[in-house]
Amino acid sequence: MAEVVLRDVSKTYPGGVPAVRQVSIHVRDSEFVVLVGPSGCGKSTTLRMVAGLEEVSDGEIRIGDRVVNDVPPKDRDIAMVFQNYALYPYMTVYENMAFSLKLRRRELGMSRADIDRKVREVAATLNLTDLLKRKPAALSGGQRQRVAVGRAIVRSPKAFLFDEPLSNLDAKLRLEMRAELKKLHRRLGTTTIYVTHDQEEAMTLGDRVVVMKDGVVHQFGTPLEVYERPVNRFVAGFVGSPPMNFLNGYVRRDGDGWYFDEGSGRIPLSGRVADSAARYADRPMVLGVRPESLRVGDAAGGGRGVCERCDVEVVGRYCHCCGAEQTAAETTAGLKAHVAVVEPLGDVMDVFLSTSVHEGLVARISARTRMAEGQVVPLVIDMLGSHLFEPGATGANVSLAANEATSRVA
Ligand code: ADP
Repeated sequence: MAEVVLRDVSKTYPGGVPAVRQVSIHVRDSEFVVLVGPSGCGKSTTLRMVAGLEEVSDGEIRIGDRVVNDVPPKDRDIAMVFQNYALYPYMTVYENMAFSLKLRRRELGMSRADIDRKVREVAATLNLTDLLKRKPAALSGGQRQRVAVGRAIVRSPKAFLFDEPLSNLDAKLRLEMRAELKKLHRRLGTTTIYVTHDQEEAMTLGDRVVVMKDGVVHQFGTPLEVYERPVNRFVAGFVGSPPMNFLNGYVRRDGDGWYFDEGSGRIPLSGRVADSAARYADRPMVLGVRPESLRVGDAAGGGRGVCERCDVEVVGRYCHCCGAEQTAAETTAGLKAHVAVVEPLGDVMDVFLSTSVHEGLVARISARTRMAEGQVVPLVIDMLGSHLFEPGATGANVSLAANEATSRVA
């Protein structure tokens, strides 16, 4: 096992296509790091450079204590699992798994009995024992994928590299294999770099995730950091499902406080979003709101007001302090939304909403909330899941406290 370090790595394909630009990633020993981003963002190229299947145009790649830029793939001591499995069709499962060990038997100092023991041990781990005599054509997609993983594991490499290994499997199998890969990593502790375009897969598998776009790393952090403290609008919109809502508007002062002028109503700002507001007064900005931070229907109740009994600010129908129902609460937000579609998802539901200036907003709320399509409902925004961004597709998140932007990789 080993750490894998990329320092200012770039790749320009012949013809001048810059696929990867100054990528720096430090994968710690035993860590599971996922490269994620939309198609064409440079994830596979980055992985293939680590594997030695693509030349590095600039920068340095280190595996363990060895710079590998000029080391051929077979000497890098890594194992790669591809999307299309790449099994040898005329070999049995056993032969597929034993192949790379047999090729390098002398070099590895393994006897035939050692190889046999290793293959059977790994096969047992992956529930492949009963399939060892079959050829790939007689296996299901999930079984083939397990053989591909087994073939990588038998070599006990310094690192595993996975390139979209689950994308050919159906949804249920993908979930099962995902859980298996996670368990396997826990047990073996082998340093792993995993490429996927699926943000959910990235968030569930990775100890840390690298979010890429246009060949550039936008953020490198734990799944929670990337979700709760996205450094810019691209990361905020890419991570999370349904995606974050983005509202265009202006930050304005209101007496001692701040609000976001959404065009059809005011959204009172509080917490770190309000703290950042002064620097952006009267400027066009984007308020990003997670679907679970949009409160509608019962949960929004009378909007924002002051509890008559205990004089504290209340968001929603009930006072957090005394629990009293806020029948007379004044709706200072004044934001109203039209319910276009309600999508029940079991315990929660996604409600698609529009205000008079923003369409396609989505709120994820309890399925027990009374809500009907066509209804007009008050909309209240919880600032805890909200962020203020500069305009543009990669506008910076200006509402992160200075000490929160630690996972940014510039
Ligand atoms: P991803 O894995 O994120 O989908 P890739 O690393 O495959 O992205 O590709 C990154 C960029 O490099 C894309 O613009 C792609 O078209 C380009 N690219 C990939 N492979 C080659 C190649 N062999 N020759 C030229 N351009 C390539």
